[in-house]
Amino acid sequence: MSRAGCVIVGAGQAGTQLAVSLRERGYSGQVTLVGQETADPYQRPPLSKAYLMGKVDATNLTLRSANYLREHDIDYRAGVVVEYVDAENRVVQFNSGDDLPYEHLVLATGARNRRLALPGFNAPNVHSLRDLNDAQCLRDVLGQHHKVAVIGAGFIGMEFAAVARQSGLDVTVIEYAERPFARALTDVMARRLRELHEAEGVRFKCRTELTGVHVNAKGLVSAITVAGGAPITADLVLVGVGVEPNTELAQAAGVAVDNGILVDAQLATSQPGIYAIGDCARFPSVHAEGRSVRLESVQNAVDQAKTLARTLTDEPTDYCAIPWFWSDQYRNKLQIAGLSDGYDRTVVRQLPDKLGFSVFCMKGSTLLAVESIDRPADHLLARKLIGQRVILKDEEIKDPDVDLKAFLSG
Ligand SMILES: Cc1cc2nc3c(=O)[nH]c(=O)nc-3n(C[C@H](O)[C@H](O)[C@H](O)COP(=O)(O)OP(=O)(O)OC[C@H]3O[C@@H](n4cnc5c(N)ncnc54)[C@H](O)[C@@H]3O)c2cc1C
Repeated sequence: MSRAGCVIVGAGQAGTQLAVSLRERGYSGQVTLVGQETADPYQRPPLSKAYLMGKVDATNLTLRSANYLREHDIDYRAGVVVEYVDAENRVVQFNSGDDLPYEHLVLATGARNRRLALPGFNAPNVHSLRDLNDAQCLRDVLGQHHKVAVIGAGFIGMEFAAVARQSGLDVTVIEYAERPFARALTDVMARRLRELHEAEGVRFKCRTELTGVHVNAKGLVSAITVAGGAPITADLVLVGVGVEPNTELAQAAGVAVDNGILVDAQLATSQPGIYAIGDCARFPSVHAEGRSVRLESVQNAVDQAKTLARTLTDEPTDYCAIPWFWSDQYRNKLQIAGLSDGYDRTVVRQLPDKLGFSVFCMKGSTLLAVESIDRPADHLLARKLIGQRVILKDEEIKDPDVDLKAFLSG
C-alpha cells in the first residue's frame, strides 16, 4: 500500500462517487475525502424540490453515510477545508494547520452561487440555494411569507418558484433576458415551461433590469425596484443568477483555470498528479465538437468520477459520456440529452394524444441534443441516438408513425 494515496477535495456528488469508485475498483492506496460541510455527503437536486416541499428529510439525501465510508476504508474528514496545495512537494494543508501528502490530488470543489452586488441584497429575507443550510433556512421560513420575488429564471429559480406556488405563495419572477431559461433551453421548450408556470399563477417580468430594493424599518427587503416599472412587493427574495466555479485553490497551486479548472480528456490538470471533476472542471467535450465546456449536473459529476477512477486504477480512460440532465417543476419532468450549443434548427416530435413532447436540436444532419417534457421514453431513446450518432431526417423526427428505435443498431 502506497503511503501517499489519493486526496479528494470536496465531498459532494463527484468527490464522494470517486472515493467509492476507487474502492470498488480495488485502489490500494489511502483514500482521503475532505469536505468543508459537516453533514454526511448528500445529493443537492432534492434541495430545490422534494426537500423544500417537506416531502423528504435531510437523512434521505445522504449519498454515503460516514459509517459506509469508514467500512470501505475511506478517510472522510467532515467540516475540514483544504486551504493550500503545495503542488511541487505534493502536499495539501488543512485549515487546522495539519498537512497530508498525496500521490494523486483530485479537486472536486464544485461551484458557489453568484451574488448580486446591489445594496440591500444582504438583508436576512434575501436567500440563495446551494447547500443543505440554505435549503433548511428556506424550508423553515416558507410558511411565514406571502409574496416571493425570484431573481433569475434559470433552473434553481424556476424550481423554487414551483415549490413556492405549491406552498400557496404569490410568486413574481424577474429576469433580465427576454425569456426564462434563456441560456439553457430552446425557445419552444422555454415557452412551454413558462406556460406551465403561468397556468399555476406565476407572474413573469422579463427584459427587466433590477435597480435596487426598498428596505423597511426592520432591515428587511419589502420591494424590488426595477428600471421603468413599478416596485415589486416581496417579503421573501430568492436570488438564482447562476454560479461561479470554485477555482481559487487550483489557481493558487499553479493550475491553469479559465471559468473552471482546465483539464484534458482524462481530467488531468496542467499540474502533474492533480485532476479536477464535477462542476468545477472545464473539459474538452466530444459532444461539443471538442470545445471545452463546464457542466453542472449530477450525470457529469458521477460519470467524471467513474472515469477518473478507471484512470487512477491503471486503466487510462478519456471522458466521453453523453451529457444528460433533468429538472422537476410541478408534476412535470424536463429531461435533456446532449449539448444543444450551436444548433441551427429545432424539430418537434409529439405523439398523438400525448401532452408531452420532445425538441430535437439539429446542426445539419447531426442530432446535437433532445429536450423532452414528460416523455421519459424519448429521453432514453435520445441518449442512444446521440451516442450512436444516428442521422435522422426532419420528416422522420416529426412523423409519429416513424419508430425512431428502428434507427438504432444492436
Ligand atoms: C439546489 C440544486 C438543485 C439541483 N438540481 C439538479 C437536478 O435536478 N439535476 C441535475 O442533474 N443537477 C442538479 N443540480 C446540480 C448538481 O447537484 C451538481 O452538478 C453536483 O452537485 C455537482 O457535484 P460536485 O461534486 O461537482 O459539486 P458539489 O456537489 O457542489 O460539491 C462540492 C463540495 O466541495 C466542497 N469544497 C469546496 N472547496 C473545498 C475545500 N477547499 N475544502 C473542502 N471542501 C471544499 C464544497 O463545500 C462542496 O460540498 C442541482 C444543484 C443544486 C444546488
